[in-house]
Amino acid sequence: MHRLYEEACQGLRLCPRPLPPGLRGAEPSILARVDPLLASSITGGEPALYYEGLWLLQGLLRRLRGRECPYCGRPALHAAGAWSISVEGVEGKAILEGLVPLCGSCLLTYRLDEAFSRGLLREAVRHLVVVNWVPEDVALAVVDRVLGEWKETLRVRRWSIEMPGLLDYGMDRDHVGVLEELAERLVNPPYLVEDEWLLVLGGDAEAQRARAAEALEALCEGRLGAAALAAKAAELGLSTEPKRIKMYVESLIARDVCRKPLYKALEMLEGAWLLMVPRRLRAWLVVALAEEAEKSPWLLRLETPLGPREPAPVAIYTASVFDVAGIAEAARRLHELLPGQPLAMAYKPGLPGHRLANHLLYSY
Ligand SMILES: [Zn+2]
Repeated sequence: MHRLYEEACQGLRLCPRPLPPGLRGAEPSILARVDPLLASSITGGEPALYYEGLWLLQGLLRRLRGRECPYCGRPALHAAGAWSISVEGVEGKAILEGLVPLCGSCLLTYRLDEAFSRGLLREAVRHLVVVNWVPEDVALAVVDRVLGEWKETLRVRRWSIEMPGLLDYGMDRDHVGVLEELAERLVNPPYLVEDEWLLVLGGDAEAQRARAAEALEALCEGRLGAAALAAKAAELGLSTEPKRIKMYVESLIARDVCRKPLYKALEMLEGAWLLMVPRRLRAWLVVALAEEAEKSPWLLRLETPLGPREPAPVAIYTASVFDVAGIAEAARRLHELLPGQPLAMAYKPGLPGHRLANHLLYSY
């Protein structure tokens, strides 16, 4: 396996170690936020062990955040995972060797992926020069090489996770074991962690997007009839009004959906059933849908906050607000899974950044 960043970082005090996007769910500061009920449901483990393990991890991170940044002496505001990452083709292995307390500037340099995505690479390079006392061309070469290696991780499809570094802070084997188990689940399909959200990815996204692209074409050619769609929705047991669909079509056109790049336009067509469910039920529902994600042709993805919420929002996305058959199928399946629950189900158009519009298109 190819061990990332090791050669590029030789001789540097502070070296960038961008985190592969797929590994976010294993980063201790993210992992510590997971609702213990959700955690034990995902792994099938003992809830008490997850309450303790996650609580111990939170305490450890809090203690480290109170220390000094080892690279510049400023107060540390973050504790980042020191990962040893190896990659071979679609397989990845990540070993947590320790935790590093870091100030904001050092974190930006250390987690170069964040600097990259926020357009702050120049600031990160400048800080690399100052902290390491190296010329700018050396810093630039390191950044180039490290980012190149980081991009290799985008191909990884399966990660294995070990966290032996947590033992050095006094955590015992059992608690480290449950955290490793949770982290490994969260970084492998069907799960994915993005920001503070847990996602369950459907297994049939390609086919769904192809159908959504057909709807987009019909929309842009003026062939999408709101009245016909509303009639079909009603036939399938959804409540809606042609007026709502017509207004939504007009708002999409006004937002220039037909001139956007295809991937952007398709994102604008997504929508979700939004459920507010008790926290305990959320923990169960997420796992039930993850288990059938592969064979649910209507499921694009599920999104729910990582942390404990009471009640907890769960958004079940489909690829197109115009695929009324898929939307109705999703509603039926959710009702089968949650019998006897007083469910008020609203299907809303998606907005960028894990948000849904205020108005609803369909109800069930
Ligand atoms: Zn610092």
